Amino acid sequence: MNDSNFVNEINKRRTFAIISHPDAGKTTITEKVLLFGQALQVAGTVKGKKSGQHAKSDWMEMEKERGISVTTSVMQFPYRDHLVNLLDTPGHEDFSEDTYRTLTAVDSCLMVIDAAKGVEDRTRKLMEVTRLRDTPIITFMNKLDRDIRDPLELLDEVETELNIACAPITWPIGCGKLFKGVYHLHRDETILYQSGLGHMIQDVRIIKGLSNPELDDAVGSDLAGQLRDELELVIGASNEFDLELFLDGQITPVYFGTALGNFGVDHMLDGLTEWAPAPQGRETQARKVEPLESKFSGFVFKIQANMDPKHRDRIAFCRIVSGKYQKGMKMRHTRIGKDVRISDALTFLAGDRALLEEAYAGDIIGLHNHGSMRIGDTFTQGEDFTFSGIPNFAPELFKRIRLKDPLKQKQLQKGLIQLSEEGAVQVFRPLINNDLIVGAVGVLQFDVVVARLKAEYNVEAIYEHVNVATARWIYGDDKKVDEIRRKAEVNIAIDGANNLTYIAPTMVNLSLAQERHPDITFAATREQ
Ligand code: GDP
Repeated sequence: MNDSNFVNEINKRRTFAIISHPDAGKTTITEKVLLFGQALQVAGTVKGKKSGQHAKSDWMEMEKERGISVTTSVMQFPYRDHLVNLLDTPGHEDFSEDTYRTLTAVDSCLMVIDAAKGVEDRTRKLMEVTRLRDTPIITFMNKLDRDIRDPLELLDEVETELNIACAPITWPIGCGKLFKGVYHLHRDETILYQSGLGHMIQDVRIIKGLSNPELDDAVGSDLAGQLRDELELVIGASNEFDLELFLDGQITPVYFGTALGNFGVDHMLDGLTEWAPAPQGRETQARKVEPLESKFSGFVFKIQANMDPKHRDRIAFCRIVSGKYQKGMKMRHTRIGKDVRISDALTFLAGDRALLEEAYAGDIIGLHNHGSMRIGDTFTQGEDFTFSGIPNFAPELFKRIRLKDPLKQKQLQKGLIQLSEEGAVQVFRPLINNDLIVGAVGVLQFDVVVARLKAEYNVEAIYEHVNVATARWIYGDDKKVDEIRRKAEVNIAIDGANNLTYIAPTMVNLSLAQERHPDITFAATREQ
């Protein structure tokens, strides 16, 4: 392998995810981004509900019924001199756990905001997660073809509510019916908008220079004058883009446009490919692993079953952290200390699968999982380490699960443990009885579990109320753990990966337990 080719392959990659509140336009922007990447001939096939066609990311009936996207799919496409990996995050609130973990597998995020609404709840939550790793953020103010809020006010809201400085790269000219386009502050040019061409890559008209009289002719002298006035104010009042601050997660470049009208998406992609970081290293317990190391390493951040009903299998999504995957290579599965030869890893082109010859740091590959892989598992080329920072979250909702046919208890238990390894749900088995308690972060997970138990394990299960309010993973030295096991036996359970947990009927009970056992750590997240 030629070294400069290896370095070039890695450095041209950009791996990002979109964070937004439902309905802000994530799906639409994904379609347009793919259109630019020419991964799709006609934008509009990502989500079935719009095109009427079978959406490529559909994998369960339930998803179609509810019209939401439950999956996290991965899309790879070329853009200019770069290769972009876009990780789709499920939009529904109920799948936040998966979303959080997906954010550990990207190097930057695109934040999409509905400019008529401003900063919304879920964006706020997701931004908190990106702040944990100071992930660089690019911002797209969407729906400029509607009446939006005052752009300066929007920037101000982002700055105060999300605690990140804004550097506008483009500035809108009008909005709604009067939306005329944007002025690009770095290129000193106005790019004119035409409505009704959202399905294609448009030939746009560009006017050089802010004082160019052509601008007055094109947008009318009122709007041109307003633009010039506003820009004076904006340039005085807002921050200038600074690459270092951006890479540090302290400043976000802001673009304006309309995803539906496919306007402004390319400006954002230009910025993303130019400024967003190439694949970044990741910490392990032992040391930090850098992308340009010649040896392969990666971690599993998501496991998904039934991606394609024709295949009926489980795929582990692995983010390559360093080196290169080559078909047929041997990988070390560090948790179980075994070498495995992998010759059938998958890549994901706009939701289609293709067998993969090679892949580089920054890419996501799909590994066939025959039951030995869990979220958080690390694969290397020999060295024994485990990547850190891929959490499980303590569930907030609990139900006891029971079989309609009691003879299938083994099947039920197997199904639940496999589903918990995928991160679809968590399962707890109390020490004192044979209950199976299902814990979820969102209510929809309960339905998914019952549907999948039936489809994949052929067991019919129903839920019952259980008196559990919260769960915590417990850690401490052996003597102390023994003590809490004895004294609070009714509250101790084993989770799907055999970890001890404290399940509390009320929050007050949890506080009391914490007071009584000060040497025990009660953790709300668990790393693998
Ligand atoms: P998601 O829930 O974030 O994936 O949002 P979608 O992409 O599904 O968009 C939600 C709704 O907003 C859909 O009806 C879209 O057609 C619409 N939408 C998305 N972008 C725009 C836009 O730029 N302008 C207008 N007017 N509507 C948009």
